[in-house]
Amino acid sequence: TYIVNDNCIACKYTDCVEVCPVDCFYEGENMLVIHPDECIDCGVCEPECPADAILPDTEPDAEKWVEFNRKYSEIW
Ligand code: SF4
Repeated sequence: TYIVNDNCIACKYTDCVEVCPVDCFYEGENMLVIHPDECIDCGVCEPECPADAILPDTEPDAEKWVEFNRKYSEIW
């Protein structure tokens, strides 16, 4: 899965949302998240993000962001 981290806060460009083939972005007041169970790992959103906020879950530090993205994608 890919995840959104705190670089997204207050960016809200939403170019990533437009390219996602499975519509797995969820929008809160200040940022977006990706539902980790819906993301198909295609990677097309990553280069669209002007804030470098989208990362694969293989990055160091990604585990807490996977849980954050899961939690908020179910709330928003
Ligand atoms: Fe959507 Fe693909 Fe990005 Fe996952 S990697 S959030 S499926 S565009």
